[in-house]
Order: sequence, then structure tokens, then C-alpha cells
Amino acid sequence: MLDQQSETLHFTKNWQQQLSEAFSSIDELCEYLDLEIKDLPVSTLATKNFALRVPISFAASIKKRDPQDPLLRQVLPIADELNLYPGFSHDPVGDLPANIQTGVLHKYQGRALLINTGSCAINCRYCFRRNFPYSELQLNKQSEIAVTDFLATHTDITEVILSGGDPLILSDDRLRTLLHKLSSIAHLKRIRIHSRLPIVLPARITPELLQALKDTGKQIVFVVHCNHANEISSHVSKALQRIKQQGFTIFNQSVLLKGVNDQATQLTKLSERLFEEGVIPYYLHLLDKATGTGHFEVSESIAVDLIKALQISLPGYLVPKLVKEQAGSASKLLINIA
Ligand SMILES: *Cc1c(COP(=O)(O)O)cnc(C)c1O
Ligand code: SF4
Repeated sequence: MLDQQSETLHFTKNWQQQLSEAFSSIDELCEYLDLEIKDLPVSTLATKNFALRVPISFAASIKKRDPQDPLLRQVLPIADELNLYPGFSHDPVGDLPANIQTGVLHKYQGRALLINTGSCAINCRYCFRRNFPYSELQLNKQSEIAVTDFLATHTDITEVILSGGDPLILSDDRLRTLLHKLSSIAHLKRIRIHSRLPIVLPARITPELLQALKDTGKQIVFVVHCNHANEISSHVSKALQRIKQQGFTIFNQSVLLKGVNDQATQLTKLSERLFEEGVIPYYLHLLDKATGTGHFEVSESIAVDLIKALQISLPGYLVPKLVKEQAGSASKLLINIA
């Protein structure tokens, strides 16, 4: 078990080392959190479809001895994942038809989203891509050339979104090569990074990474992914400050998750904490109905009530937009708060 001293030491290691030490078994994670496996609804069978993966930097923010912890619920494989729920499927957001070219999703006007990798630093149990055929669709060095050609010839695309998986799991060398190509495409105005790493592996935000982004000469936008205020540790706070110091904009997207952040008080606190760190709440997503995630679903009518409560408790600019993804739609669908 990690004691306090080795935990402190862990945070002095570089991000690749930290990543290689991430928890990969239910036993290890529960031992670290001082939890009895027999008191939890865990399922090893659920890890067969989608492995457990939790960086120590995220696990350190989970409360010890609390089976109900909202961060734990995001990462612990439980038997509910094996239940079939009506309306839940393997490709709920229609990514497969939009994948017009390997590694590129071009669903929305002016924006192209690149699936730079299928990997993540963490495996969120509610992830809509847990069933996604990544190995076929993600970019490799070869297809990256085709993609940059595609972007160069589509002069209507002004923003490229690096996504995945998590694009920041790529090495600085891989990213630098890609960013260099993107920087030479004149009609691209913005490079957007969709990443959960600033939250779950803040050591990834290195001066070298930030410099590589800055060197593109494009406007840089981060969209991080944080679901609960407890995820914002002092390490996360410092990583966010480093990004802000470059003058980059940071937005946050969350997924509305039963048992994690489905209370108005939790969402209010999340928005407040984010803004303290200079991060603007952007989207609150209704769960994408991916097989294995049904137990996380919050109904649309409850979601609307939550947003109404936030509108009362928060300034308007701290209320995230409630959205859902709809296959074949020209944008994320904004849910009407009547
Ligand atoms: C979400 C998404 C975007 C970005 O949408 P915004 O509303 O601009 O944040 C772009 N492309 C794809 C395929 C997406 O899923
Ligand atoms: S970080 Fe994002 S893409 Fe990765 S597992 Fe979590 S929700 Fe899915």
C-alpha cells in the first residue's frame, strides 16, 4: 500500500512514470482507499470489456473508506455495467458514419475533430467510447499525413479539435510533429484540445508541452473534463494556472452522472471551484447511451430542474449549457430550459 511518503514522492515523478504506476486492478485500488472489496458492488467481469485504469493523482482525491465517494464511482467497475438497458447501444452518438476518413470526425461546420489516439490516462466507466472500435479509427503517423492534407484542402475548416481518447497522452514528439503541420495551414485559426489530463494527470502539463502549443501561433483553447469539485486538487490547480499563464482559454465540460454530480449543490460548487481556477463552465452533457453505462443515467426532466436550480444559485456565466448529442445532428442539441 502507498504510504504518505511514497505518495508525496509519486508527485515528483514525470508524467510518463506516473502514468505507468496508475492503478490497474480493483484489489490495488481498494487497498489504497482502505475499502473492503466485499462491501462494494464491484465486478471483475466488467473489467474484461473495459479495464480499470486510475492514475494515483486522481485516486489521491478520492476520500478513503467511503464507498459512496463521487470520484470513486466514476472509475470503479461494478456489476451494473453488465445490465442491459433499453435504448443503450454501442454507437450512441453516430460516430461511425461521421468518420468520413480514418481518424477525422467532420460533423459540425467549420470544425474537424481528430481522434489522435484511443488511449486515456483514466478509464471513466460512463465513457461513451468504451465500446468504440479505436484500433481501426485512431490516427497513426501515416494517416496523420492524409489528415493534414484533408485539413489543408478544406478551407472552410477554421478550428481543429485534438481529441480521442485523450490527445495529451501522446508524446511531446508526436504532438510537436502534428502541431507543426497544423501551424502551416493558414485558414486554421484555432487549435482546441479536448483533454481530461489536466484534471486526472496534471503532471502532463509541462513547460515543453505549453511551448509547443504556443509555437503554433494559433489561438489555443483547452476544454478540460471535470465532473466534481473534489477533482480539483492543488496539483490540478497548478496545472490550470500554468495553462492560463500562456494566455490560453480554458473551458470545462462535465457529464451529468447519477451518484456523482446529480445534486444542484454539487454542480453549484463545481462551477464556483472552476471559476476560482479561471475555468469557464461550458457544457453539461446528458449521458450518451452507451452499453454498460445505464446506471449513470439522469433523466432529461431532472436535468432541466437542476439547471433551473443553478440559474437561481449562480451568475448566468457560471451555468453550463445542458446539451445532448444526437446522431446526424448539425450541432450538439441545446436542451430547452422552459
Ligand atoms: C462536440 C464535437 C465538436 C465540438 O462541438 P462544439 O459545440 O463546438 O464544442 C466538433 N466535432 C465533433 C465531432 C464533436 O463531437
Ligand atoms: S477521459 Fe474522456 S475519453 Fe477518456 S475514458 Fe474518460 S470520458 Fe472517456
